[in-house]
Amino acid sequence: MLGFLKRRSARDELPEGTTCQWCRKVIPATTNEELYLAGAVLDPLAGWFCSTPCAQQYGVRFRVQPSRTPPGGSRRAR
Ligand SMILES: [Zn+2]
Repeated sequence: MLGFLKRRSARDELPEGTTCQWCRKVIPATTNEELYLAGAVLDPLAGWFCSTPCAQQYGVRFRVQPSRTPPGGSRRAR
């Protein structure tokens, strides 16, 4: 798995990729499958993050406290 990733990122030309919504690092993957393999994390609202810590930091800063349920809204089962 890692060898596969290394081979892809070995190219120095700026690859088409996905930018982490938190640290702006470019994840060298474009499809969901590739992104998951690269260890990226998908937030349905924000997009892709290069790693779980990035997703968590984003969530801490921008997300309303999860205990708050919007009035009348159906609670989203995570
Ligand atoms: Zn990141």
